[in-house]
Amino acid sequence: MRVILSLLNVETADTTLSHAAYDSKVEGNIIFTRLDAAINWMRKNSLWPMPMGLACCAIELMATGSSRFDISRFGAEVMRFSPRQADVMIVSGTVTYKMALAVRRIWEQMPEPKWCIAMGACASSGGMYRSYAVLQGIDRLLPVDVYISGCPPRPEALLEGLMKLQRIIEGEKPIEDQIAEIRQAQV
Ligand code: SF4
Repeated sequence: MRVILSLLNVETADTTLSHAAYDSKVEGNIIFTRLDAAINWMRKNSLWPMPMGLACCAIELMATGSSRFDISRFGAEVMRFSPRQADVMIVSGTVTYKMALAVRRIWEQMPEPKWCIAMGACASSGGMYRSYAVLQGIDRLLPVDVYISGCPPRPEALLEGLMKLQRIIEGEKPIEDQIAEIRQAQV
């Protein structure tokens, strides 16, 4: 009741109405965009990593989550140890044949859309282990979106890789177009 009375006390009805109907501050707070662009923007800023730490590179991966490097600046601090809650797998370390199929199974348990970062020389190419026991790159088992060089790469390199992945996600086509392309390729 007190609010209504105060409105009636304003000098004229016109000024009250114009103030209520138009606020110049609102103008600067409205953004027009496409739905696909908005979805991509939300996805790239809320990546939930599946930390696939297999060897020494995993120590750098862990350091990336520390306050010094602060991966949460990119919205990717929610490390999930459940594949069903993760959308980016960070393979960091040597992938032995013994471990490879377990990595593949975890990848398959992650829901779409999903992405993969190969962190370090071992995950990207087998690194210095040119041996019968080591897979020569995780891309032999699953699609990799970003490769990060180094043995081990520093946390800054992982953050750079994450930013590259964000740029990839930003430019992704709508899911209907992707499905249509896959169907066309199958014909
Ligand atoms: S790239 Fe180097 S640091 Fe990383 S897992 Fe291989 S040997 Fe270890």
